[in-house]
Amino acid sequence: MSSRHATLRRTFSAQFGAMPMWLVRAPGRVNLIGEHTDYNDGFVLPMAIDRDVRLALAPRTDRQVHVFSLNFQQHDHFSLDDLQLTTTSPWGNYLRGVAWALQGAGFELTGFDAVMEGNVPIGSGLSSSAATELATVTAFRALGNLTLDAVQAALLSQKAENDFVGVKCGIMDQYISSLGQAGHALLIDCRSLGFEAVPLPAGVQFVIADSTVRRGLVDSAYNERRAQCEEGARRLGVPALRDVSLAEFERRAPALPDLVAQRCRHVVAENERVLHSVAALRAGDVTAFGRDMDESHTSLRDLYAVSHPVLDTMVEVARAVPGCLGARLTGAGFGGCTVSLVVNACVPAVVDALQREVARRTGLTPQIYLSGAEAGAGIILGE
Ligand code: ADP
Ligand code: MG
Repeated sequence: MSSRHATLRRTFSAQFGAMPMWLVRAPGRVNLIGEHTDYNDGFVLPMAIDRDVRLALAPRTDRQVHVFSLNFQQHDHFSLDDLQLTTTSPWGNYLRGVAWALQGAGFELTGFDAVMEGNVPIGSGLSSSAATELATVTAFRALGNLTLDAVQAALLSQKAENDFVGVKCGIMDQYISSLGQAGHALLIDCRSLGFEAVPLPAGVQFVIADSTVRRGLVDSAYNERRAQCEEGARRLGVPALRDVSLAEFERRAPALPDLVAQRCRHVVAENERVLHSVAALRAGDVTAFGRDMDESHTSLRDLYAVSHPVLDTMVEVARAVPGCLGARLTGAGFGGCTVSLVVNACVPAVVDALQREVARRTGLTPQIYLSGAEAGAGIILGE
């Protein structure tokens, strides 16, 4: 039994005086390529990571949910018949939101006692929030034997985050946390919500590095970028930037205001890069995939202007190590993480460079996460 499982069981027994019946989990994620494309109806390519949020639980006979969070060392409890936002245990809003969304979709829920624990770093951009939501859906699914599929689980989790918690996220995080497959990335079409598992080649690894930079003003910059994309699409007469090829865009870009053209160029090219990079993966061409990652970063830095000097340094430092095939910022930008594609044998050298050289040049020591592509949300143990 893993030590995390043992801790969950021990805590459950101490908190509730019984043993849990189920253990469920849902992973965080990293996006490999396709940044700021989701809200333009475009393509993204995330993979689920080996860090997850877990719940050990047992059903209750009433309509109450009682949860103890190991990370926050705090209780939350609520009634399934009266779902309100809480300010005293904000993490509980993700559970309440999921219950609200599931019931709104007509599912009959069972109350439960649970202990929750996660090792997805919180607020680093690896989507601990989606992991929390999908772990909660999986808990309700296990107890109530709900007939909902992984797509519906993702959509209702997104609804919980958008409309209950009040965070306007896209669909990527919940999709990959729900639908991830071991050894595969997931190509998601953010318009049709279609998806396709893409096998990741052997011999290389993705190195995730958290800059530890958290910058304010992210929301206003994000809203400004979204507005610029919408303006571009409107002026080009298309429903979304997804509908323009790069060639057509270049013909028509002179008619756009300079800054709008610059922002849109990133999105249009990034969509093509995702499809190109998926073709490269399928052909086993990791060098081409790495090049697409490099180009994605350059575009995010120079055209979309969402990088940060520390992220630029991290990308430069990683790329300078032999065996690093490509590197880019991942997530919305301004801080958060980078992801680098590295030949297995060279991973220690890249990790070492990211820690020492970045610290020397910026004063910050990135936090490193090494992970293969893992499976999406599921039941680990239960009867
Ligand atoms: P992220 O980029 O990690 O998704 P968010 O701000 O979107 O950051 O979500 C973080 C929030 O998700 C936390 O503040 C907390 O409310 C919830 N959360 C994440 N991990 C856990 C956990 N292990 N236990 C309880 N709540 C969690
Ligand atoms: Mg989040």
